[in-house]
Amino acid sequence: MAKNRPSSVARCWTDLLTFYPCCVIVPQLCSQWDRLNHDKELHWSNQRKMEDKSYVNTDIYFRSLLSRKPVATQVAYVTTAVMQHFYFVSRRALRLQLSGLRDLMGGTATIPTEIAELISGDPRTATSHLHIDPVLRTFICCTSCHSIYPYNPNEPSNPPRCVGRRAPESAPCAAQLWKETIVGGRQRLVPCMLYQHQDFKHWLARILARKGIDDLLDSYPSELCSEHQPISDIWLANILSQLKGHDGNPFSGPGRLVFGLSVDSFEPNAS
Ligand SMILES: [Zn+2]
Repeated sequence: MAKNRPSSVARCWTDLLTFYPCCVIVPQLCSQWDRLNHDKELHWSNQRKMEDKSYVNTDIYFRSLLSRKPVATQVAYVTTAVMQHFYFVSRRALRLQLSGLRDLMGGTATIPTEIAELISGDPRTATSHLHIDPVLRTFICCTSCHSIYPYNPNEPSNPPRCVGRRAPESAPCAAQLWKETIVGGRQRLVPCMLYQHQDFKHWLARILARKGIDDLLDSYPSELCSEHQPISDIWLANILSQLKGHDGNPFSGPGRLVFGLSVDSFEPNAS
């Protein structure tokens, strides 16, 4: 906006004060409202481009893929997920159950055959539609020095042996990263060890998307206790109540988050 130039919203407000009839004011308000929404979307879009790595799309935590499926599919997938995660039924048994459900539904007059055939026979499809599993990043982990390498089962482009070094001048670790095994009667190479890391941003996004979390975050204690009173909320602890933000103002307040990291120790030599 140019300096000293009133914004179009301000001009609209000035017009409102002159008591224009409703048929004039409402279209103006709608027009300005659309413009504000457009600007807001533009800003969000630019922020996503600039901070691509820190942006997390939380749509999956609010809108399940399952809700777009036919009711028959929803019933089959929810039943399968419950059997798997609450009663620990094996994947092999669930394939049989899904196959049976598909045949059963396809044989009834009320469910069209093409709808029943949309039900996947793989129980992993049911789980993925419900977003039950956490978002993980998988790495191959060296069994000797614990160096990690990104792992993509569809593109095994990782080194066959560990190239990690204990120090820049040390020789490579060279431990074997893959081993041969029999899968489905066929010989295959699989990682000796995998390490799965839960994506923190997705973990946080899932928590923030939970019902009622806004109220909990807003239930921040408004008055600090004196030094000698028992503390009923972690925000009342001195270390948090005196914590300053980057602008020098108190960090604590509604909607603010604090995380703790607790570890036994770090061993630089991994011994
Ligand atoms: Zn190694």
